[in-house]
Amino acid sequence: MSSSRRLFFALTLPDALQQQVIRWRAESFTPEAGRPVAAANLHLTLAFLGDVSAQKETALKKLASRISQPGFSMVLDDLGHWPRPGVVWLGTRRAPRKLLQLAELLRSQAARSGCYQSPMPFHPHITLLRSATQPVAIPPATPGWIFSADAFALYQSVFENGRTRYQMLEQWPLANQDNP
Ligand code: ATP
Ligand code: MG
Repeated sequence: MSSSRRLFFALTLPDALQQQVIRWRAESFTPEAGRPVAAANLHLTLAFLGDVSAQKETALKKLASRISQPGFSMVLDDLGHWPRPGVVWLGTRRAPRKLLQLAELLRSQAARSGCYQSPMPFHPHITLLRSATQPVAIPPATPGWIFSADAFALYQSVFENGRTRYQMLEQWPLANQDNP
């Protein structure tokens, strides 16, 4: 019996931002554009880990708990479409250095712990629509929401009853932005 779980580190969208994004999304895309990601599933992946054994999971949590990185804010002012995975995404034109550093740290710790590491460069994004394999009319702009990250979390990806949901396993604070 395998006790490995499918894990990833991510930033959670605050509830209020989730609601603003899904309201805007409903007005901005036609139903044919793709399948909307459930509000509770909106997230920004920092490091995807693949299937992780219980032993490695414990080691990763210990490393994560020692991370002392500052929080940061970003403007969600970018949109894009990746036809091959069929994803419409929300992102930022100016990824904060602190975001890139946090992702790099988590990715390198994961690699050193022997977890799967994506060969793709880190492109911070929040998936809005899936199954978007046909051309999509992308709105010219977003409302320019500010996303403030004051914590990062380890999630388990659970596929059941034909649906994927994410279960937060543990969350760690980022240091205060004003008093790093
Ligand atoms: P599903 O694959 O079941 O349709 P999902 O893609 O949301 O749903 P996962 O595949 O478990 O669920 O992925 C969890 C998170 O990790 C998502 O943000 C996903 O984009 C990201 N992810 C998945 N696979 C990779 C990968 N090979 N490289 C980088 N990020 C990945
Ligand atoms: Mg996937």
